[in-house]
Amino acid sequence: MVLRVAEQFAESDTGRERVGNEDALIARAPIFAVADGMGGARAGEVASRLAVAAFEAGLPAGEGCEQELAARAREANVRIHELARDDARHAGMGTTLSVALVDERDVVIAHVGDSRVYVLRAGGLARLTEDHSLVGELVRRGQLTEREAAEHPQRSVITRALGPEPVIEVDTLTYPARPGDVFLLCSDGLTSMVGEDALARVLRETATLSEAGRRLIEEANAAGGRDNITVVLFRLEEVATPAAPAPPAPPMGAGPHPRRRRSLLGPSIAAATLAALVAAGGWIASRAVYFVGSNDEGLVTVYRGLPYELGSSILLYESRYISGVPAAGLPPGRRQRLLDHRLRSRDDAAELVRELERGRLEP
Ligand code: MN
Repeated sequence: MVLRVAEQFAESDTGRERVGNEDALIARAPIFAVADGMGGARAGEVASRLAVAAFEAGLPAGEGCEQELAARAREANVRIHELARDDARHAGMGTTLSVALVDERDVVIAHVGDSRVYVLRAGGLARLTEDHSLVGELVRRGQLTEREAAEHPQRSVITRALGPEPVIEVDTLTYPARPGDVFLLCSDGLTSMVGEDALARVLRETATLSEAGRRLIEEANAAGGRDNITVVLFRLEEVATPAAPAPPAPPMGAGPHPRRRRSLLGPSIAAATLAALVAAGGWIASRAVYFVGSNDEGLVTVYRGLPYELGSSILLYESRYISGVPAAGLPPGRRQRLLDHRLRSRDDAAELVRELERGRLEP
């Protein structure tokens, strides 16, 4: 049995609050991709376009698809990272990326960030990707429910994106597909506005994917349209119609389980990844910001990030430099002003601590 794309829909809508659209997509069967860019002064648009452009050229089919998709995603990461590093107009840009490739009997997925891939089979909707976001992380640790996550003020903060780091970890999976399966790739502008029950309902109730896609965008806008909304849909059919009728579709969860694996590359950097926060539209704010505090041993320390913790174990900062100066040894007035957690530039924070170490700080 060989599958092919029978029907497809792809559209990106600016939504009701954003001025520009920093999402990007490609829908060129058998390959589909959605990217949601972030970064000031339209840099997000550049990042998301670079991400999807990596999949415009043809892809080899068969074994090794996951590795091939992950390799393309990593190449895109390097291009985005280098442009962000070398060109001030693009500093701090990043993007999510979700890709799906139809490969005979499987749909192969590569994924970074909080855009999502779903499959609708026999009326049931299943999410195939994990969100690389703070709230996603907290849900997986059992510290937040899905419902709480949907309302969380930090729900748009993502923990993995193409661009911010020179090396990126790409999730991949091979999903054994069936004729009739409908796949949805979308940016968080859809899923933050329309719940999964409503997504499933629209997909079940509509006769064509164009109608479904347009209704999903309408519902996201009706709910506020706070972000760019990108919807890519495709439905699979068998290439050659067999003489025997197709077997009934099994309920969701039955049948072979998708192989899920992570492609390994470079150092695994969980802590650094969390610290390398990308707030939607605010990457620069969380990344290029430093503050001075004291560490567990009471030493004056320069931190990169924001002086907050989410839950008990997710820090929005990382230690960058530990001075040899015990905070307790400082006069109270100076200590208070020094350790005020005020957000500073890196140079400002470093200079402050250097002066302190030289004993030259004004009392
Ligand atoms: Mn978005």
